[in-house]
Amino acid sequence: MSDSAAAGGIGRDAGDGTRAVRAGLPEPVKYEPTLPGPVFAAHFHLPGEATGPYKYGRDENPTWTHLENAIGELEAPGQDGVETLVFASGMAAISSVLFSQLRAGDVAVLPDDGYQVLPLLREQLTAFGIEVRTAPTGGDAQFDLLDGAKLLWMETPSNPGLDVCDVRRLAEAAHARGALVAVDNTLASPLGQRPLELGADFAVASGTKQLTGHGDVLLGYVAGTDASAMAAIRRWRKVVGAIPGPMEAWLAHRSIATLQLRVDRQNATALTLAQALRERADVTGLRYPGLPDDPSYKIASQQMRRYGCVVSFTLPTRTRAERFLDALRLVDDATSFGGVRSTAERRGRWGGDAVPEGFVRLSVGAEDPEDLVADVLRALDESAR
Ligand code: PLP
Repeated sequence: MSDSAAAGGIGRDAGDGTRAVRAGLPEPVKYEPTLPGPVFAAHFHLPGEATGPYKYGRDENPTWTHLENAIGELEAPGQDGVETLVFASGMAAISSVLFSQLRAGDVAVLPDDGYQVLPLLREQLTAFGIEVRTAPTGGDAQFDLLDGAKLLWMETPSNPGLDVCDVRRLAEAAHARGALVAVDNTLASPLGQRPLELGADFAVASGTKQLTGHGDVLLGYVAGTDASAMAAIRRWRKVVGAIPGPMEAWLAHRSIATLQLRVDRQNATALTLAQALRERADVTGLRYPGLPDDPSYKIASQQMRRYGCVVSFTLPTRTRAERFLDALRLVDDATSFGGVRSTAERRGRWGGDAVPEGFVRLSVGAEDPEDLVADVLRALDESAR
């Protein structure tokens, strides 16, 4: 049992805000802080036998332990047998699952519309003799590729297209064929979606985004239920050394205390903004999974608890999108998403996503909704002139 579970702080029925502020806190110790500070240690005192929880700083660290307990409590409240591991970045977490689980000759089914680094992973997996099959997220198109697969990877909602697939349905089909199932939960955050409850073996995410939410930390994690798979992932982390620094881990844990406040504010404003954008003739291809007429809405409303803070849409041309981004005052032209300060970018500038030149991904922050919506509408008007 984890320290925090032993502390008995959070019941299964606690609300998300309560869970977020208390997640991962150790048993109180008189005169010690509620959330212990970062432990900066390359090694720990280790006389005699090399056993015990803390031996060497690449293998384990008490600051990670608290954070791993916190993330586990959010991803799978009250669920037994869930192990969580933190990593240096989302990509480190993703790679750890793929490269620890797959061998030459195995088949992996990936989305073809997910995070733009997935094609690079595909290249690397193929170089190692792993067959990679891809299909779009929408319409559960990965379903048809599952025969003979060792691992199914879903990213739902997908970044940046915001398509959603039916995790329960795909996980059942994959398990029936003996495949492991991983879901990239970055966009939803653990308060928006619980992949392990939906049947996945691994919930994997970039904690760089909404989980930490301040744009100042790179972090990743894997939460999983399969003990031997998690042991292999732990070993992979040790072999590759893809570990977060104690300061990053502590900042992440501190930030999680406000997760519910941030997520609720940002998601509510994202819906308001999407509704305002729907009224604009110059905005096409508007996507937000929380809009009742969005193609993702039906499945999203069945499996998600919140719809995320990202809205995407297309402006008529590349120049128009660039002028729009320049005209924004409350939204930074920057990549990434999920932070308390709104960001937006013309996604086509990276060249990795199959999107129109005028496609904009906008991540809604924690600004006052009326200020943000006014800023976006003003920038749209100004950029049209
Ligand atoms: N997964 C998704 C859906 C992402 O959008 C990103 C980054 O944008 C990652 C994973 C990778 O995360 P990181 O940048 O923390 O490595």
